[in-house]
Parts: sequence; C-alpha cells; structure tokens
Amino acid sequence: MSDAPLAVVVLKKRRALPFFSHHPWVFAGAIEREEGAPQPGDEVRVVSHEGRFIGRGLYNPDSQIRVRLYGWDEHRPLDRDFWAERIDQALAWREQLFQHRPERHACRLIFSEGDHLSGLTVDRYGEWLLVQWTSRALAMRQELFLELLTERLRPRGVWLRTERGIGESEGLSAADGLLRGEPPPRPLFLVENGLRIGVDVLEGHKTGYYFDQRDNRRAVAAYAGGRKVLDAFCYTGGFSLAAAKLGQAAHVTGVDSSPSAIETARANAELNEIGERCTFVRADVVPYLEAAVGRGEQFGLVILDPPKMARTRPGIERAAKGYLRLNRLALQVLEPGGILVTCSCSGLVDREMFLDILARAALEKGRGLQILEVRGQASDHPVSIHCRESAYLKCVIARAV
Ligand code: SAH
Repeated sequence: MSDAPLAVVVLKKRRALPFFSHHPWVFAGAIEREEGAPQPGDEVRVVSHEGRFIGRGLYNPDSQIRVRLYGWDEHRPLDRDFWAERIDQALAWREQLFQHRPERHACRLIFSEGDHLSGLTVDRYGEWLLVQWTSRALAMRQELFLELLTERLRPRGVWLRTERGIGESEGLSAADGLLRGEPPPRPLFLVENGLRIGVDVLEGHKTGYYFDQRDNRRAVAAYAGGRKVLDAFCYTGGFSLAAAKLGQAAHVTGVDSSPSAIETARANAELNEIGERCTFVRADVVPYLEAAVGRGEQFGLVILDPPKMARTRPGIERAAKGYLRLNRLALQVLEPGGILVTCSCSGLVDREMFLDILARAALEKGRGLQILEVRGQASDHPVSIHCRESAYLKCVIARAV
C-alpha cells in the first residue's frame, strides 16, 4: 500500500480467459509466478502469460483465492475514490429499488461479487449496519470502508459478524463485535412485506435474518390462502408469517432445530397477531417429516428451506442426496394438488441440477410435479454476470398432482 510500483501476478498459459471476462477470483492454481514480492493485502497487477494487462486486484497468500480482482482499468488505482464509487453505485441501486418503502431499512446494501466488491457484505437493519468480510485484503481496509459507509449512511452503530471457517480459508482473524457507535438492541425490529419482525442480529444466523427470501415469501403467500402449511426450516418464521398473515393460510406449522429461532418465531407471530394460526415446533426436520408420513398427516403447502448443504465440490453428491431425501418426504406429506416450495442456497448445486433432483423425487414418489415458478434471490442480492456463482438461491414453486 505504498507508492512503490505494484507487484505483478503472472497467470499460466491458457488460464487467463475467465479474467479477461472479468471473473474476480484468481485461484492459486492459475498463477505462474509473482514478481515484486507482494505482501498480504497489497494491490497487484494481474497479467497474462504474455504480459497483457488483465486487471487490478488485492493479494492474499493465505487464501486459495490468491487475488480478488476489482478494477479493469490499467491506469486507475484501487484507492479511496475507487472504493467510494463502488459503494455509491451499490447504495444508489437500493435507494432506487426500495424508494421510501420500509424495506430500505431491512436489506442488503452491499452484496460482495454482486456489487463488484468481492469479500464485503453489508446489511442494514434499521439504524444499524452489519458488516461481514470474506476477504482478508478488504478487511485490512476496514477503517477506510467504515469511514465511507458512515459518511454516507450515518448509522447508529456498526457491528461485525464473522463467517464460520473464514479464519482458515482467508487467514482472517476477526471476532464479532462493535466497530462503531452503539451496539444494536436485542431484538431489533424491522418491517418486511408489511410484517413486523424481531431479529437478533448479534446471535442469529448470518447477520440475523435472511433478506434474500423477501420476495419469495411474498410469492409463496399468494398460494397459501386457506391451506394447511408446513414451513420446514422456518428459522424465525419468515415464510410462516407471510403465509399466515399476507396469504391467509388456515394454519401454519413451522419446524426448526434451533430453540432460539423457534422462540423468536413465536414472538413474531404474536407481534403480528397471528399466534392462534401458527404453531412452532423445535425438531429435526427429517424425523419430523417421517413421523408425519407415519401418521398419514397431509398439508396443502410445504416449504423446504434447508441450510446450505454443499460447501465444497466434493460435497455436491452428498448434498444432492440430502435434497432428494427431503423433497421425497415433502411430497409424501403433500395432499393431491398441494403446493411444494423448495429452496436451495447451495451455489454449487445449480438450477438445472436442482430441477433434476426434484424430477427424480417426483418419479420415485409417483407424483406429477408442475413447475409454477422458478425464483432466485431478491434484487438487493444482484448477480454479477461475470461471476455466476453469486446466483446461489433457488426457490421452486410447484404443484404436486
Ligand atoms: N426459511 C428461513 C431460513 C431458513 S435457514 C427464513 O425464511 O428465514 C435454515 C434453518 O434450518 C436454520 O434456522 C437452522 O436452524 C435450521 N436447521 C438446520 N438443520 C436443521 C435440521 N436438521 N432440522 C431442522 N432445522 C434445521
């Protein structure tokens, strides 16, 4: 981070194509050599085997993603002005998207690769910002980013959440905690689709809530009218509340293994005055579904939103088996003409593969499955066309005949 000439990372022969196409992740295996002894966090120039300029990025010798690329202009440094422009673009999109709706205070402001800021996620919960680093080199610029964010958003506080495993994968040592201002209250209340939702941003999953399912919850509510709903992996009740309140479901049962999530889900149902039509059960979903099959219980709408099942390429096959098993069980408790809402947030299991798994589950259980909608993540989680891995969420709505 000095005025010295930038170190240069030279790619192997025939490995440059994805980066000429602006993919941001330069893996160690694509690198031929490094010139100029780059240090952790340094800005580097990445060039092809023949020395053609490709992009400017940040270097991390402890990550498999050795360089994250951010800039494609040979003459523009990755300086304060550069990052400020990226942040402004991200914030402007959310302003446009939400206008003056309450969701502007309950959304993802910066989505890593989707906003060309690989390794930084910022969520906004009311007057608080929740920051997550998945790049050590960006995290080393934390003070600069906090300054840029607080100048623009004037939050009451900024809280850091760390992702599990990031210590090993990025060599990043960070602990959850207060970065600026006051700590967030527990619970913190936000508004989504007209519902009031209490979240625990300190201890809850991810940064406390799953904003990526916002539009899918509303979409699912449209099918819920009068139906008996099972919301499997309900967490704090995102889909349950939407189905019961917006969708006027006859009854919703939410199931999750986390006691604190179940407690919050119950409180949220009370808060929205639908406590009498919602039951939340702390249980493991698979045995719960097996028991429901055993007693012949049927539902009119079943939602499956399991946690990420494939974290690595070798884990894909196991994840596929897990999805198959869950979807088979869901079909067994769906009444004829019932609606299946089935999600996958494993980026490594792509849309086609997920649909193939559903087809197999349907065949095995002798059910016809009509796809009604194939949805993705909400638009405050944009997908970079150059990094299709950022399209991680699938939400299929289908009718089981
Ligand atoms: N549908 C939720 C998000 C679900 S996240 C929403 O709209 O907000 C996945 C959830 O699965 C987490 O709450 C986690 O506690 C739960 N979970 C993970 N494994 C589980 C299991 N085997 N049985 C039940 N719940 C599980």
